[in-house]
Amino acid sequence: MILCTCEKCRYTFEYPRIPEHCPDCGAGSVRKATAPEVRDFARIRKILREEIRLGLWEDGSSVQPLYSAPYTASGYDTAVSV
Ligand SMILES: [Zn+2]
Repeated sequence: MILCTCEKCRYTFEYPRIPEHCPDCGAGSVRKATAPEVRDFARIRKILREEIRLGLWEDGSSVQPLYSAPYTASGYDTAVSV
């Protein structure tokens, strides 16, 4: 799996190859995720796993470790809180 990021909407996701179009917004500007994006992805996935473990999601099995949020200079402006 390759970690990919959409240039347009900053959606970061795992995919077997770099897709032609973003699965979120449909833009044709998907590229390989950069090191900071890989780091953020791992961090968010960890938070999501913890929230699933705590039962904050009704059906944890349907929650995908995918993440989309506006990107700021300081990193993802995430609404996730613990
Ligand atoms: Zn996109």
